[in-house]
Amino acid sequence: MRRMAKTLVRWLALVGIAFYWGLGAASASAQEPMPPIYYHVDTNGSQSVQNLIDKEPGFWSVLNNNAASFGYTSATYWFHFTLPPVDHDRVIRIAYPLLDKVDIYYVANNEVIERVSVGDAQEFNERPVENRNFVVPVASRDRVQVYLKVETTSSMRVPLSVWEPTELLGDEQVVNTATAMYFGLLLCMIIYNLFSYSVTRDPRFGYYSAYILAIGLLLASLDGTGYQYLWPWSEWLQSKAIPLFGSVAFIFASLVASQILQTKERSPKLHLGLQAIMGIAGLLFLASLIFPYEVMISIVLIMAILASSFLIFTGFVLWRQGLAYARIYTLALSVLLLAIIINAIGYLGFFDSFFIQRYLIMLGSAIEIMLLSLVLAIRFNEDRKERLAVEKRLNSRLEVKVKQRTEELEAVMRKLKEMNQRLEIKSNEDRLTKLYNRGVLDDDLPLEVRRARRTGYDIAVVMIDIDHFKKVNDKYGHPVGDEILVELSRLLKVNFRRAGDRIYRYGGEEFVILMPGAQELGCHDKVLTVTEVIRRHTFKTERGEVNITVSVGMALLNSLPGHASSKQLLEAADNALYQAKNSGRDQIRIARSLKDASEKP
Ligand code: GH3
Ligand code: MG
Ligand code: MG
Repeated sequence: MRRMAKTLVRWLALVGIAFYWGLGAASASAQEPMPPIYYHVDTNGSQSVQNLIDKEPGFWSVLNNNAASFGYTSATYWFHFTLPPVDHDRVIRIAYPLLDKVDIYYVANNEVIERVSVGDAQEFNERPVENRNFVVPVASRDRVQVYLKVETTSSMRVPLSVWEPTELLGDEQVVNTATAMYFGLLLCMIIYNLFSYSVTRDPRFGYYSAYILAIGLLLASLDGTGYQYLWPWSEWLQSKAIPLFGSVAFIFASLVASQILQTKERSPKLHLGLQAIMGIAGLLFLASLIFPYEVMISIVLIMAILASSFLIFTGFVLWRQGLAYARIYTLALSVLLLAIIINAIGYLGFFDSFFIQRYLIMLGSAIEIMLLSLVLAIRFNEDRKERLAVEKRLNSRLEVKVKQRTEELEAVMRKLKEMNQRLEIKSNEDRLTKLYNRGVLDDDLPLEVRRARRTGYDIAVVMIDIDHFKKVNDKYGHPVGDEILVELSRLLKVNFRRAGDRIYRYGGEEFVILMPGAQELGCHDKVLTVTEVIRRHTFKTERGEVNITVSVGMALLNSLPGHASSKQLLEAADNALYQAKNSGRDQIRIARSLKDASEKP
């Protein structure tokens, strides 16, 4: 960035030097030799040309170096010189376009032979030659005396020169080209910054193009180009242009400075100062609409000097605080300010230089505008980088957070699933024996029956009831009864372990076993074996050894007539169990009908 700025500065310096030499060479060219100029200050404006014609030479003062520059004055100034006879036409040029009223009298043989009035208090189109300066044809090729009466609220500068018209044409070409280049540059910058604004929506670009526009209008006012091309129909605007555009320029200069230098964040005091400038410049703008030029111009000039100093001071302070682009900003502004100061010294009448008066300020502002544009681009880029960095930081933080949340959520989900599973087991399980409970049987049985029908395999419902269990309870106590129930469950689990077998605790000491795919014979054998195992098993309890027997009722889907439902199947098994009990217990019965199951196997 630094190297870029340095290169730019070098280039601008080169351009400036080229510009200077080009103009210097051109302006030093083919102008007619100027005779000595005399002047007279008419404080109360009482003189007439006729009076002055008759005056002795001693009445007039000699103008040093032909430099008519007297600063701001309310007096009327008279200038007088004598042109020698020539064999070609000539014109007089007054290269200061802001003079209000200039009366030019051509006098021969003590007689006024022609009088021409120019000045910017007059409509532009009334000028004898349409030129942003005042160009007036000389009335005679003979020896002729010229008297100029100048009244103006602007600075009293009357840079006089006499030209052969064709020579002037050549001279102005260089000047016009330079001027056009300058305004062309400004126009490009305005358009470029407006584009930047429309693309980025960053208001700084908008403010900056407004600033350039204001500077351009101000320079066009100073230069006479504005009156020539932009508002030739408005003497009113011409009379107000400089304080108006000057105030606007300072409003936007402060705005741009506060934006570029981030004064709001970096230095609230300086920021307040810039806002004060904006406010004052705004008031001066309004005042300029109402009060006349001669009242406003000095106030605006004072404001300009103070505000420029403050802007430079602001840049300088922030540069010292280590703000990199504050240095370029300060440099840019210094260039312009230097040009303005030199120019202002000229306006105040301390010297008169065609080049300095007109083009130094253009050059200065061109350099300033380009440098500021560079600063703006750098600022924009830095902001963009900063935003990207912040975005990146936020994004990665967000990612981590999302990841954390996801993990937490997953853990919760896992827990929930576990708990659900546990809950399901709990609700399906018989507490004491850990077998499936009756609810599960109610769910399972219809499914199994349907499956059996679909596949054609049989299904057996085996209902087991402990014989005289009440007595066991009575004799050993309820806890021992429980122990036996648990132990019996274990025996059942060990014995009914074929795939598909499921054991349910149906009631207090009743169990149901579903045996899908069972065949009657095999099933009966199995049950017989299990009852045998139970009968032989010694239940070791805390109150001693206990033996039990069980009664069994069985129902097989295919052994039942018709189309038995799951409910009927269960009832059939229950009936068969009832039969077994009735027949003396410790035996197995298989249901043969839906109503009553009987028949010993
Ligand atoms: P049978 O079946 O041979 O007709 O006689 P039983 O004494 O077993 O008859 P019943 O079905 O009337 O009685 C069942 C008894 O089982 C009643 C109760 O004391 C006992 N019982 C039921 N559930 C439990 C239990 O969870 N724990 C204990 N310890 N005893 C239970
Ligand atoms: Mg019983
Ligand atoms: Mg019972």
